[in-house]
Amino acid sequence: MTSTLVAMKESSLPYKVDLFIGGRHQEPSSGEYFDRENPSDKNLKVARVARATAEDVRAAIDSAREAFDTNRGNWVSDHKLREKVLLKVAEMIRSEADMLAEAESLTSGKNIRTSKLGDIPRSADLFEYYAGLATKIFGNSFYLRNGDRVTIVKEPVGVVGAIVPWNFPLVIAARQAAPALAAGCSVVLKPASYTPVTAHKLASYMEKAGVPAGFFNFITGPGAKVGAEIVKSEKVDAITFTGETGTGRWIMEEASHNLKRVALELGGKNPNLVFEEADLEAAATGAVFGAFANSGETCAAGSRLLVQRSIYDKFVGMVKAKVAGLRVGDALSENSDIGPMIAEEHMGKVLGYIQKGKDEHAKLLVGGSQLTQGELKNGYFVAPTLFSDVAPSMTIAREEIFGPVLSVIPFKDEDEAVHIANDTMYGLASGVWGSQARSARVSRKLKAGTVWVNTYYTIPAENPWGGFKQSGIGRENGIYGLEAFLEIKTIYEDSSGAVYKPYFKIVFP
Ligand code: NAD
Repeated sequence: MTSTLVAMKESSLPYKVDLFIGGRHQEPSSGEYFDRENPSDKNLKVARVARATAEDVRAAIDSAREAFDTNRGNWVSDHKLREKVLLKVAEMIRSEADMLAEAESLTSGKNIRTSKLGDIPRSADLFEYYAGLATKIFGNSFYLRNGDRVTIVKEPVGVVGAIVPWNFPLVIAARQAAPALAAGCSVVLKPASYTPVTAHKLASYMEKAGVPAGFFNFITGPGAKVGAEIVKSEKVDAITFTGETGTGRWIMEEASHNLKRVALELGGKNPNLVFEEADLEAAATGAVFGAFANSGETCAAGSRLLVQRSIYDKFVGMVKAKVAGLRVGDALSENSDIGPMIAEEHMGKVLGYIQKGKDEHAKLLVGGSQLTQGELKNGYFVAPTLFSDVAPSMTIAREEIFGPVLSVIPFKDEDEAVHIANDTMYGLASGVWGSQARSARVSRKLKAGTVWVNTYYTIPAENPWGGFKQSGIGRENGIYGLEAFLEIKTIYEDSSGAVYKPYFKIVFP
C-alpha cells in the first residue's frame, strides 16, 4: 500500500520520534516508545513515538522558563532576529514539502492532495506571516492633561504550552508556535499521539534555523499525562490549545490555578445555508467540499447543510450525485478524495453516529457503513454518508461527528434558517449561499466566528480564526493570533520634576 511513497524512504519507517528539550534531541527518560500505525493499512507501523514522563515534561518547561527569563540569544529583545529565523523555518518547510506531505498523510490519513496543496504550504505561510509581524509589535504613547506621559508597550507573555490535535498536525503546530515565537515567547509543544512526525521535523527546523536552545521544546505522550502536566505547571504562563470542547473546558479549569492565559480553539457543528436564489452548482460543490474535505475530520466542517424548501429536492439531488462520486482510498493515492479515519476507535465513533441517524429515522441517501473491500480491508475507511430530512433535534444534527457524514435539514424562510443555524452550543464557522443582500443580512445574524459567503473553507494566515460560544476563546491567525501572546504594560512618567506628593496625607504610626 505504500508503493506511492516518493519523498519519504520506506526503509526509514517506522520513523523515530524523540523529544527535543533545551536544544537537545533525546530519548524519554523511561526509554519507552509506542507505535503509530498507518490508518490506511494498520499492518504498517509508521512511527515509534517517545512516551515522555512527567520528569521530561518538567525539564522541557524548565528549559523554556530559563531561556525566556535569561533572554537567551537575545530572542526576547531582538525582533529582527526572530523575523529572520522564522523566515528560515518557512523556507525549510517549503524545501521539504513533499516529504512532509507524505508524512502527514501517512500518519493522519488525510489525502495527499490535501497535504500537498493545503497543509504544508499553509504551515509555511503561517511562519512567513508571523515573521513579518515580529518586527511590527508596538504600543502607543500619549500625554495626560497634567503633562504626564503614558507609554503602552507590548511584551511577550512568557512560557507558552502549545497543545495540538491530530487533524491538522503541522498547520496547527505552526498556527500556535509561529505567533508565540514571533512575540518573543518560549514554547513547549505537544502534538497529538497519532500524528507527531511533522511537528518533530519542525523541531529540527527550529534548531537549524537558529531558534536559541530552550525557546522551542517538543514532547510527546498521552494528553491526559503529558498535556495535563503542561497545563498544571505553575511555570507556564499561557496555554494555546486546539482540540475537543470537553478537553478545553478541563484545561480552562486547571489553568485557573495560576491564572494562565488560555486560547482555546474547540469543536464545531457548522451550518452551511443555501437559499433559493444561490448559484446551485457552486453551492453544491461548496456543500460537499465543506463537509467532506479532510474526510470530514475538521472543526470547520459544514456538517449541517440547511436548504430552502423551494429548491430542496433539486438541490439534494445535486449534492447526492456529488457525494456518490467521492473516491475513498489510501491516503497516499492521488486518486483518493477521502482517506481513512484517524484510528479504529474514532471510526467506531463515526459509525455509531451513522447508526444513530438511521435509528432516529433520518433518510440515508448515500453510504452509511464501513468500507472493507479490496485494498481498503486493512484500513479505517467509512463511506461518505449523506442523510436528508434531518430534524434539528436529531443527534446527528447536534453533535460533532468528525467524519464523512453530512446532514441535510430543510427550512422555509430566512428567519427559520437563522434560528436553526444558531440553535447549537457551538459557534465556530458557517456558510451562506445566496444574493448579496441576503448574505449581508444573514451574516450579521449568525453567531459564528467565521461566515463564508458564496464560498466555504478558506482560512488564510491573515484571517482571525476562532469561535463564539463553546467553540472556543480568543482568536488565532492574523494580528489577533499574535496578541494572544502579548501582555500590555503601562509606563506612567511624572512630568513635573517636583518631589513626589500624593494627594492625601500619609500618616505614619
Ligand atoms: P483532543 O481534545 O482529544 O486532543 C487534542 C490535544 O490535547 C492532543 O494533543 C491530546 O493529546 C491533548 N490532550 C488530551 N487530553 C488532555 C488533557 N487532559 N490535558 C492536556 N492535553 C490533553 O482533540 P482531538 O481529538 O485531537 O481533535 C479533534 C477535536 O479538535 C475536534 O473536536 C475538533 O473540532 C477540534 N479542532 C478544533 C479546531 C479549531 O480551530 N477550532 C481545529 C482542529 C480541531
